[in-house]
Amino acid sequence: MQSVQLIALGTSARQLGLSDVRSGILKVLPVDVQLSDLHLDIDAALDSSRKQYHSTQILAMILEAANAGTSKLLGVTSYDLFIPVLTFVFGQAQLNNRAGVFSTFRLNNEFYGLRRSDKLLLQRTVKEALHELGHTFGLRHCMDHPCVMNSSTYVEDIDLKPGDFCLPCLRHLQTVL
Ligand SMILES: [Zn+2]
Ligand SMILES: [Zn+2]
Repeated sequence: MQSVQLIALGTSARQLGLSDVRSGILKVLPVDVQLSDLHLDIDAALDSSRKQYHSTQILAMILEAANAGTSKLLGVTSYDLFIPVLTFVFGQAQLNNRAGVFSTFRLNNEFYGLRRSDKLLLQRTVKEALHELGHTFGLRHCMDHPCVMNSSTYVEDIDLKPGDFCLPCLRHLQTVL
């Protein structure tokens, strides 16, 4: 069975609700999910003028800090992420490789001036986790079907897409899981 390590970055696993995220992943994917005790300082990925963290640099840091092995490494942070060509990213992952990262920064209703909803936050967080893991398992963005691998530009896109994989994506996953 493929294994996944959830790595809390900058904020504690408890504050990020990683055990609930773990349960959410397990409902959809037949993988082993562990909460990593790796402590990774991502300050070097901070762009102080943008006040955001460079997600590609974080991926490199995760890979460097991790043990050799085959488990997927999914970093989760409450800090805002970016890549240089975009204003922000919800997350980023290596296609068919080990590392992914995503942020809860823009998954909170409060970010949009709306009333806090822990339920919605968890739903969005699990969708982002599944999406980035999907990339690490070799899935590209899926635009032909309602699918958690649909790309999301706005948080509304995340809310509109389902929390699981479409049939063609599932078929691919079955070949690698
Ligand atoms: Zn994606
Ligand atoms: Zn799909």
